[in-house]
Amino acid sequence: MLNTPVPKFCPKKDCPCYQSLDNKITKDGTYKVKSSGERRQAFYCHGGQHRFSEMAYSNLFKKQGSVKEYSQAAKLIKYGLGVEQIADVLERDVRTIEGWVKGIADKSQKFHEFACLAITLNLLYLQMDELWSYLKKKKKQLWVFISLEADTKFWINFELGSRTNHTANRLVKGWKDWLRRTPGQVLKVTTDKLAAYKNALSKQLEPSSYVYLQIVKKRFKRRLKTVKKCWIKGTEKDFPSGTQNTSYIERLNLTLRQRISYLHRKTLGYCKNKNNLERSLWLNLFDYNYCQFHRSLQIDLTGEKIKFKKRYKEVTPGMKMGLTTAQLNWRYLLVVPIPKSG
Ligand SMILES: [Zn+2]
Repeated sequence: MLNTPVPKFCPKKDCPCYQSLDNKITKDGTYKVKSSGERRQAFYCHGGQHRFSEMAYSNLFKKQGSVKEYSQAAKLIKYGLGVEQIADVLERDVRTIEGWVKGIADKSQKFHEFACLAITLNLLYLQMDELWSYLKKKKKQLWVFISLEADTKFWINFELGSRTNHTANRLVKGWKDWLRRTPGQVLKVTTDKLAAYKNALSKQLEPSSYVYLQIVKKRFKRRLKTVKKCWIKGTEKDFPSGTQNTSYIERLNLTLRQRISYLHRKTLGYCKNKNNLERSLWLNLFDYNYCQFHRSLQIDLTGEKIKFKKRYKEVTPGMKMGLTTAQLNWRYLLVVPIPKSG
């Protein structure tokens, strides 16, 4: 569950009380979907005097699928399948699957942006990196810039674009607005040697609010030769041992390459449509941050004597960051009421 109240509102666009928080919404029994036999919760909008379905909180209402099918489609995208393959597996039209993936990706983005803005992020140690892909023709490069909070393993945001200041700027601006302002707290940042990060950080942040280390890796014939540390802002003592690296973001980088077929190296599965890559990234971000327990975040309970109980407490990056109180799933994402921003 989200770690902030999410009051119900009327999601019906032509209702006079649409999105209004000054309106009474109550539960109004359940109903059975004819095609799948699935039960869904209904609500009643007192201001507009009408009933609506819990599925109206996402763009998947009346999209012909069951929640089970939506979850299956999301998982198959997460495992790297394309919409054509998913359409084949689920015996649906390609256009139908595209509509589902768009709906789930839009809601993932809305959910993540709402959570980060409403609760704000306690960023202590941030790593940024970029991955390349190809767009349409193999000649045109498309870069995915990503940022990660290394202590919580929370994947903060991503941006698609060229390998320039412009994209790095959008990335930094993206998380800057979510930053929890704690007086005196200094953010540690590590990246590779791309100058765009340095420019974006100095443009967007107060000079006293961060320290910055660049890790310069030299490769010879694809083998790592040397690692040089460039202290751009701050000194060695600002980065305790274990933080003078970019290994956490490189791990996420690797995970994404395995997961997203458009990012597979040396294949022809490169991206023909930027939207598909972006949707795939949003689904993966929701799954990674809010649905999956992260092994390195396990809290060891072996010191306490708990008989017949798990010796580890498992947490997701979202829980560690304090945004959620439990592991989430696709069904929760589809029905959670997220108000429009701004
Ligand atoms: Zn209404």
